[in-house]
Amino acid sequence: MSNSSKKSSFLSTSSSAAAVQSGNASSGNNQNNIQSTFRKKPIPVGQKGIELQAHINSTLGNNGSLREAVKLPKGEDELEWIAVNVVDFFNALVFLYDVVNTEHCTEKTCPTMCAGPKFEYRWMDGEEIMKPMECSAPVYCGYLFRWVEKQIDDEKIFPKKQGDLFPQDFKKRVKKIAQRLFRVYAHLYHSHFKIICALQAEKHLNTIFKHFVYFAVEFSLISSEEMMPLRELVDGVLQAP
Ligand SMILES: [Zn+2]
Repeated sequence: MSNSSKKSSFLSTSSSAAAVQSGNASSGNNQNNIQSTFRKKPIPVGQKGIELQAHINSTLGNNGSLREAVKLPKGEDELEWIAVNVVDFFNALVFLYDVVNTEHCTEKTCPTMCAGPKFEYRWMDGEEIMKPMECSAPVYCGYLFRWVEKQIDDEKIFPKKQGDLFPQDFKKRVKKIAQRLFRVYAHLYHSHFKIICALQAEKHLNTIFKHFVYFAVEFSLISSEEMMPLRELVDGVLQAP
């Protein structure tokens, strides 16, 4: 019975987080604009990728069919489908983060990469950074986006041509990518939802996040443990009619 009220918490959950910043962020003029650093990634797997993206866009065009939009289209290759979607999610998240980054997510406002008071993330990629490193949210996101970009740019991981093989560990890599992208959403909701609302970008954030959650659940990309910082929000998305 009480569960039915959960849906209404979709938007309010995050704004109640203790970590909400007041928005009086300093100039932040020494921050790099994240979008100029990370340019939009082209769709992988050649012509097939373009067709698959057209499929996503046409499904999304029909009202309320986000759940449908994540499903593997009949007869299509699962890995190609996942690759195209992951690149799309990456592009969308870089764009979203850019909304707050320059002025509102700075070393000063966000000295740690957190998702509310209970969750803090440290960066480690096992390549450049070998030990978990405490860093500010913008530094963490910079590392994270660079780490994802490097993989997307690598044709051996995200083939550019249709018919090229995906690596054996592709799904494992994608899980890690999705898990880490989720952390950026967690940070945005917990620390920047107020300013995102003030900038009237919350609908965009909510839609992309819903799409991302449906996709992650459809292909079992993120463990429920990793989703803990946005548990209520995720439950609200999944339980919505
Ligand atoms: Zn921040």
